[in-house]
Amino acid sequence: MGIVIRGASVLGQTSQDLYVDDDGVLVDEAPDGAEILDADGLVALPGFVDLHTHLREPGREDAETILSGSRAAAVGGFTAVLAMANTSPVTDTAEAALRVWELGREVGLVDVQPVGAVTKGLAGEELAELGLMARSRAAVRVFSDDGKCVHDARVMRRALEYVKAFGGVVSQHAQDPSLAGPTACCHEGETSGRLGLPGWPGIAEEIIVARDVMLARHTGSRVHIAHVTTAGSVEVLRWAKAQGINVTAEVTPHHLLLTTDLLSGYDPTYKVNPPLRPQEDVDALRAALADGTIDVVATDHAPHARHDKEHAFVDAAFGMLGLETALSVVRTALPELSWSDVARVMSTTPARIAGLADHGSLEIGTRAHVVLVDPEVSVTVDRDASVSLSRNNPWHGRALTSRVVHTVYGGQFTVRDGALSA
Ligand SMILES: [Zn+2]
Repeated sequence: MGIVIRGASVLGQTSQDLYVDDDGVLVDEAPDGAEILDADGLVALPGFVDLHTHLREPGREDAETILSGSRAAAVGGFTAVLAMANTSPVTDTAEAALRVWELGREVGLVDVQPVGAVTKGLAGEELAELGLMARSRAAVRVFSDDGKCVHDARVMRRALEYVKAFGGVVSQHAQDPSLAGPTACCHEGETSGRLGLPGWPGIAEEIIVARDVMLARHTGSRVHIAHVTTAGSVEVLRWAKAQGINVTAEVTPHHLLLTTDLLSGYDPTYKVNPPLRPQEDVDALRAALADGTIDVVATDHAPHARHDKEHAFVDAAFGMLGLETALSVVRTALPELSWSDVARVMSTTPARIAGLADHGSLEIGTRAHVVLVDPEVSVTVDRDASVSLSRNNPWHGRALTSRVVHTVYGGQFTVRDGALSA
């Protein structure tokens, strides 16, 4: 029956109507008998695409499932998520990738696109079935050992050469294990010294970013740097892009707003890998996102069951929730970012990096993946209102700017008036 989205500010520009036909495609005139949605005062953007989501299924369905994670994604305005490979078992075969892809389709709230592991079992030694995963119906294009760094340069070089053949990309968790150490749990600096916590130095990240942009140049292949956190990494990326090296990078919402200062209470909610950094790094990340040195925002949504997270700081699991709050955190951290830039960093560019051709655009003839946002409202986050199965929410009790009101996925409402529609 179709939808007429009436009077939305499209990409923050002048108000216009958007038309969705009964096949779920954006068209240029109102379909007969369409439902009218009053979107006056709302901003319309292409549905968000998350390059970095942990859905925990298979293996840790007590923390999140493909169903609950898809629900959290829809609430956050996402219409596609890339599910990281560090599940149990690891997504390192075509069968495993296809299973995640099929489960995502069964749920049907967002496109769940599996990320393939770079190495078997994330062990960092032997390449996983990259070609078979790429040629499967899941059509895997993004490969990552996320959670672990592909630290062996020879393995990383081989992986880059391999994925080049089918237009794939390697997403690197940049963290040299020989500099970061097995017990590190926060940024190495003044705060870690005062708190007596073993730290990760920024250089552990930067040295891998520098190495991998050189490997991308050498192989002519494409590398993506996951969750960049330091000003030094930004400098390397800026240089690499100026050379024309094929590198893209992401920043998480939390690294745009939270700093090491939050660690003084030893609250494991703020324990995350890579760690929160000082304000000067946060400032550099914001500037880099605004000027395009960092290409995209990716959530690193990392749900954890209470019994894994509620421990002494050194023993607690790494990670925080991110899907439902991503847009609001970005708006709060960078209020000056234009809506077309928000669409660029949260939809258009991540869709391009992941090779998801039917996402990232509101052009006539594309599938209708649309998010409608109340731009100025302030909302106080309540972790118990989350649709995630987990509660490790660093935003609980904080007032954030803007709110996802409706999400349309392939012409169907997944979220209506802020609530799941099914
Ligand atoms: Zn990671």
